[in-house]
Amino acid sequence: MEIHYLQGLHGDRALDYEHLIRLDEQLLREKNRADNDQINSLPTRKATAEDKEVRCCICMCDVEEGEVLRVLPCSHKYHQSCIDEWLTYNGCCPVDKKRIAPRRSRGRGTAHES
Ligand SMILES: [Zn+2]
Ligand SMILES: [Zn+2]
Repeated sequence: MEIHYLQGLHGDRALDYEHLIRLDEQLLREKNRADNDQINSLPTRKATAEDKEVRCCICMCDVEEGEVLRVLPCSHKYHQSCIDEWLTYNGCCPVDKKRIAPRRSRGRGTAHES
């Protein structure tokens, strides 16, 4: 009986939860954003013939010689235009989720690096 009641409650509040989760995600994204300084401090270079084996995991395209790549600290490479846009919303590597730069905010560092 009690279980049934709880399930009913949960169902009624499903919308609320979804709303909360979305808010959470927004906040998280806000926190994870990289600013232009951080993005621009990452090295870029023109793709060479050797980079032809590299695939940009954001647009899922193989890198073509001559395209501009941005190299992240974790040494993953992406098209500059692809990764710049990504980093604006999410300041970490799309593949291994490594942050591109330490968080600026001092304050007690909640070591949230995984
Ligand atoms: Zn790309
Ligand atoms: Zn990476």
